[in-house]
Parts: sequence; structure tokens; C-alpha cells
Amino acid sequence: MEDFIFSRDFVLQMDARDPLSYFRRHYHFPHHNGVNALYFAGNSLGLQPKTARAKLEQELDDWADFGVEGHFKAKHPWVNYHEMFSTPLGRIIGAHPEEIVVMNGLTTNLHLLMVSFYRPTPDRFKVLVESKAFPSDQYAVDSQVRFHGYDPEKAIIEVSPRDGEHTIREEDIIENINKHGDELALVFIGGVNYYSGQYFDIQSITKEAKRVGARVGWDLAHAAGNVPLRMHDWEADFAAWCSYKYLNSGPGSISGVFVHKQHHGQTDIPRFEGWWGHDKNRRFEMEPKFYPIPTAEAWQLSNAPVFSMATHRAALDLFDEAGIEALRLKSMKLTNYLEQMLKEISRDNDVFEVITPEDPERRGAQLSVLTHGHGKELFDKLTAKGVIADWREPNVIRLAPVPMYNSFQDIFDLGMILKDLVS
Ligand SMILES: *Cc1c(COP(=O)(O)O)cnc(C)c1O
Repeated sequence: MEDFIFSRDFVLQMDARDPLSYFRRHYHFPHHNGVNALYFAGNSLGLQPKTARAKLEQELDDWADFGVEGHFKAKHPWVNYHEMFSTPLGRIIGAHPEEIVVMNGLTTNLHLLMVSFYRPTPDRFKVLVESKAFPSDQYAVDSQVRFHGYDPEKAIIEVSPRDGEHTIREEDIIENINKHGDELALVFIGGVNYYSGQYFDIQSITKEAKRVGARVGWDLAHAAGNVPLRMHDWEADFAAWCSYKYLNSGPGSISGVFVHKQHHGQTDIPRFEGWWGHDKNRRFEMEPKFYPIPTAEAWQLSNAPVFSMATHRAALDLFDEAGIEALRLKSMKLTNYLEQMLKEISRDNDVFEVITPEDPERRGAQLSVLTHGHGKELFDKLTAKGVIADWREPNVIRLAPVPMYNSFQDIFDLGMILKDLVS
């Protein structure tokens, strides 16, 4: 059995049976020595959908042909270009269309959302975060705390893995939520941790945090397009994500935001406002008073950056075609296969170990490989062999088998290279 699983015949069968295997052909792969590289970095920058160019050219053509009139005359009028995203993203995030808006970059959006949902008072000013959060999230939270005049040392509660462990126990998060209960203003965690690949139980953490009266926000940068989500039903207050990781929409492309319906149409919510959040029917009346759109669009400041949105559309069309549930099914199989492969390779030596949770429900399409010495050397050798992965100091190689375009064969090929390098 073992031998069979690690054979070319096995992966060929798995790929032949994979209903999504065709999607790979919709993406451009970087080349290495004239052949496709083995791409396992889709959690850093997703590959380019081949349809992205035509979508972008459409907007360039419409700009050339119509100038300013493109706002209304373009094939997809720019004035409400952003509205095209609410439904397809709603399927990915598990939200009603009116709970979604695309705008800005991710960190910008985290700040805008914290303006509304981190409202500390002297009694309730603390923020609970996961340790080793993405640095930008740490800077954002830290600066928000200082902006309100509080001391990050006292205000920020970091929950860490226990000694000798690599992932955070959910019971420890919940215990801290209860311990700081009355003082907790916000719980803000990455849905899937970028470093370990741990997928938190968003539903139960959200529930516990709301029970003690805190607001709850999620950074879904590594979760959106990776795992199926139900942000509306799970009753998170807000979430934000970028579109260039699993969502394949291009470097620095537009971010997305979720604001739960219960916060729409509120007049007493502090918010930084701009004309694109103002009542659409009266937008061009340029009146002094702001009438917020009664949806997540109230948080929108500016008119749509259509070029980055054009590539985002190309990418989301493919998600709609594949379906997030089918992608998740394949993802679990791919990640399991990679895990077995890595275990097999490291069985008789102590070169590395996987620190991502073993439970398939608690991880997405990523395995983080903790190397025991010479990690960077191993990573560089992989790169030289045409494997594009991701190195995180001091000693972790992140590998993302992305169900949209990676195959079982990719994992087999990676395994053969890795086996050769460690022996
Ligand atoms: C990728 C990522 C970011 C990047 O932020 P940008 O504002 O898009 O540069 C932030 N937070 C997390 C958790 C990420 O994974």
C-alpha cells in the first residue's frame, strides 16, 4: 500500500479522478528551465488566471474609447463596478451580498474597521489577539490602541502556544476571553494563521467573545478562498481579507470587507467616511450631510480602482465555476497526501517536522515544515530544483498545495525532489 501511494501510477489515477483537474489549465505557471515550476506559494501570491489579461484590457479599451464617460458607458460601468463582487464573494465568505464591499488594501481596511469596532473605554479597552499574528496586523492593533491613548503592554492580550507546542489551543483562547471578559473590547484573530496554517474555530471563538460583550473581527487573508466560511451565521462583527493569496487576483490587488448586517444603517457608529459610502442616488448632489448606504458599502470611501478589480473578477469567475465546497474537498485530499509524503520522507531522519495541525478540519491548504538545522539551505536547494515555496525566518518552509491549480502529480514531484535532497 505505502509503495503504491508513493508511486507515479497512484498520482496519475488521483489526478484522472479529480473533477477539478481541468482548472489548472486556466492559470499561468512560472517557468523553470523551460518547464512549469512546482508552485507551492499560492498562499503568498496566487497564480494568474489566463482570463485576467482580457478583463484588464477591456477596462483599458473602455478608458481609451470613452474617457470619463466610461463611468456609465463602459461594458461594466465603473460607477458601480464594485457591486459585481458582493454576490460571488458572499459565497466564498458565507455572507449576504450587502454585508460585503471591496475596497483599499487589507491593512487599510483593518484600520477602518477598528475605527468602528474597537471603541475602548477605561473599563473595557483590551484586545485579544493570537501570538505570532501577521506583522501588519500587530502594527495595526498596536497603533489603534495607542491612538486611543492606551498602553499596548496593558491592552493587548496575546494567546500563545503552550511550551513545546506550535499551535494555539482553542481552550486557551476561550479561557483568556473569560478571564478578561468585562475588560475585553475586541477579539481579533487571523482565521487561518499565516505561519502555522492553523485554522481556528471561528464560530465558537466568536460566540464566546460575544457572550462576554466583546466585538469580534477576523483577518481572513489566509482563509478566504481556502476554507468555506459562514461569517454571517457565525455572527462575526467584521472581517477583511486580501485578494492576492488564495483568491489569485494579482499583487497588491483589492481587499474585501465583511460587516455583519446587524451593524448596517446604524447612525451612532463611528466611521471614517467618504463619498462612495454616501447614498448612491444623491452622490452627485455633493450635499454637505452624509447619508450612509444601509449596507457594508457605507464603509467605502473612494470610487472603484477598476484595474485591480478587473483581475479580481477574472479570478472570482473561476471560483464560481469550481465552487468553494468542491475546492475544499480536493484541498483536504491534496494536503493529506502532502502530509503523508512529508512523514514518509522524514520518517528515518530528523530533518524536519510538520507543525500545522494534523486535524484536517483545523487547517487549510498549507503545511508549515519546521526544519531542524540547515533549513535555509534545504529551501535554497528546493528553489534551485524549480520548487517555488515560501521561507519564513528562522526555520519554516511553508508549502501550499492549492486545489485550484495544484495536482497530485505536483506533490509527487516535490516529494521525489525532497527525498533526494534529504538523503
Ligand atoms: C497577507 C497578509 C496581510 C497583508 O496586508 P496588506 O495590507 O495586503 O499588505 C495582512 N495580514 C495578514 C494576516 C496577511 O496574511
